[in-house]
Amino acid sequence: MNLIETIKDAGIVGAGGAGFPTHIKLNTKAEYFIVNAAECEPLIETDKYLCRAFADELVKGVMLVAEHLEAKKSVIALKGKYKDEIAALKAAIEKNSAAIEIFEMRTFYPAGDEQIMVQQVTGRCVPERGIPIDVGAVVDNVGTVIGIYNAVTKGEKTTEKYLSVVGEVKEPVMLKVPIGTSIRECIKAASPTVSEYAIILGGPMMGRVVAEDKLIDQQFVTKTTGNIIVLPKDHYLIKRSEVSISRIKHQTRSACIQCRMCTDLCPRFQIGHRIKPHLVMRNVWREDKIETQEEFEKSFGDAINCCDCGICEMFSCPMGLSPRRANQYMKGKLRERGITVERNLNPQVRSSVDLSKVPTDRLIARLNLGKYNGLHAHVCIGLKPDEVFLPFSQHIGKPAIAVKAAGDRVSAGDLVARADDTGLSTNIHASVNGTVSEVTPAGIRIRVS
Ligand code: SF4
Ligand code: SF4
Repeated sequence: MNLIETIKDAGIVGAGGAGFPTHIKLNTKAEYFIVNAAECEPLIETDKYLCRAFADELVKGVMLVAEHLEAKKSVIALKGKYKDEIAALKAAIEKNSAAIEIFEMRTFYPAGDEQIMVQQVTGRCVPERGIPIDVGAVVDNVGTVIGIYNAVTKGEKTTEKYLSVVGEVKEPVMLKVPIGTSIRECIKAASPTVSEYAIILGGPMMGRVVAEDKLIDQQFVTKTTGNIIVLPKDHYLIKRSEVSISRIKHQTRSACIQCRMCTDLCPRFQIGHRIKPHLVMRNVWREDKIETQEEFEKSFGDAINCCDCGICEMFSCPMGLSPRRANQYMKGKLRERGITVERNLNPQVRSSVDLSKVPTDRLIARLNLGKYNGLHAHVCIGLKPDEVFLPFSQHIGKPAIAVKAAGDRVSAGDLVARADDTGLSTNIHASVNGTVSEVTPAGIRIRVS
């Protein structure tokens, strides 16, 4: 098998984001291969841990992928303050005589947004709604590259995840778990300090809030789970996520002072994309009065370029308003109306780009997460659950198709659902040895035995 076939067979997807199938992303050539080790969101520990613990595997993985891409430059980009991780990576680079550059970033959010990272590393701006390969770059997450190395050298499939559990726990921990482990079990292993809690799957800015107990019970580790934040149910971030869009629209009408801070600090605005959230906010009250498609696009078309980073709502706005949610809402309306907004394919970075970066420490204070800041995971605990549930959709695109039935015996690494080749999709493998106890439309449950 060549590299792409091996990656597809192993079911590797982008480990740090939405789960884009890696065999599709890497089926190209590129000038730059960039490894995103910036740990974009506050509090997350996973990529730092992987850089320290698996520096050698990461460096060898970069060499494999860069050779395949025929990349002229290989770069591992991470924050300059990650001294231990940089030291580990430099030692591995030297040991392997690898032509890999370490790119040290400032500590700002969203340093790990791949379009921002590409601009910082290459000086090039990815087109609106484009991807890094549009400007000659491929960006992969640390966990993805280590997964590729393990697939190529050991034939491993994607069956395990490293993730951090932070927030209201005795101390932050790293966990190594079979994919499909219940989120409750992960939290229990980290010893939560409150009995009633809500969680955020991912980071505090872009992660998914799950507040209801019965919904938390239904969450499982997937290929893209990298972090769990445990928070009291009345924490600012949980309460804020519960505000309805009608309330947000009402607040906008009465409180937006048009200061335009949301626009000036917007990372996509700063790399030259056409996005001015203050104008969307200015026009929100007129939504129902707009009759023509042209007028609607003129008023709200910019919202389509919002990447959902949340800076405007969590940091910029002095009035506590939510341009992000207004943008999400308007994106939906643009789709409903069938409006296609033209793309700017040649955005130019603004001269203020480096002056408008949001320092992570100030953001953490604004998010009311200060008490968890600076605590790090020092131990990694391996969990061995009694059962796992493997969703068929752990990636962007079409769900995988079950190839096992209830009662089948499986071993870790066996294919249990194959990629649907009629679209973007990926293979899913058993993460434990056991017996399939249930196959539902959503996924497959395996009882360890
Ligand atoms: S930052 Fe807030 S108050 Fe200022 S323009 Fe944006 S939404 Fe309005
Ligand atoms: S969430 Fe706000 S700051 Fe982020 S891209 Fe969208 S408009 Fe810009």
